[in-house]
Amino acid sequence: MRVEIVPYLKDNYGYLVVCEKTNSCAIVDAGEAAPILAAVAKFGLAPTVIWSTHHHPDHTGSNEEVAAALKIREITAHTSDRGRVPGQTRELRDGEVFSFGALTVRALHVPGHTMGAVAYFVSDGEQRAVFTGDTLFVAGCGRLFEGTPEDMFASMRELAGLPSDTRVYCGHEYTEANLRFAAHIEPDNADVAADILRATVTRAGGSPTVPSTIERELATNPFMRAKSAVELGDRRTRKDTFK
Ligand SMILES: [Zn+2]
Repeated sequence: MRVEIVPYLKDNYGYLVVCEKTNSCAIVDAGEAAPILAAVAKFGLAPTVIWSTHHHPDHTGSNEEVAAALKIREITAHTSDRGRVPGQTRELRDGEVFSFGALTVRALHVPGHTMGAVAYFVSDGEQRAVFTGDTLFVAGCGRLFEGTPEDMFASMRELAGLPSDTRVYCGHEYTEANLRFAAHIEPDNADVAADILRATVTRAGGSPTVPSTIERELATNPFMRAKSAVELGDRRTRKDTFK
């Protein structure tokens, strides 16, 4: 499995997921056509599907333009996002497993940021990756636009249960601000301090901080580390106004 990161709009990440055995390619989130089409051309890929993580326009606004340009006929999203995800052709349910090339994909329903949020857990038998949209960020989680703290807590627990070496690819580059908040919540967390240094160097060099891993998120992410839905909700409220 190979993953190409496609930065687009201000701070979004889309991805090209490539099965190296079959050269099958999937696009994760198409919020801006030009950078995605440029990356597809640059790497000489032929994507056949768009996996949408949730309906927000910065993740799906170019679904139809990208699908038309590349003759893509399948766009997946959660079943409850029917009518909200442009061009959706397939409705996924929680835990649904499907093959893509030689890859195995499991759709995880992870409500909280939106009620139809899906994370795509992808395995080639050796390496694992999860595409979390705006549910789990590096060192953070999405705002609770539609769900409750209980929803997000359950979603965090589901993601926390993935194999610890699973690489985490999220929907935005919010890492430095997230880590500042993490240090505010846990001033003595040495892993957070180490990741702040690492993220600062990475961003100064103009590179993305993705991927993280589930293991690193369990060590640093204040929302993955919340012991209860109440604690998660309290942290999320504080993060909303944290400067
Ligand atoms: Zn969103």
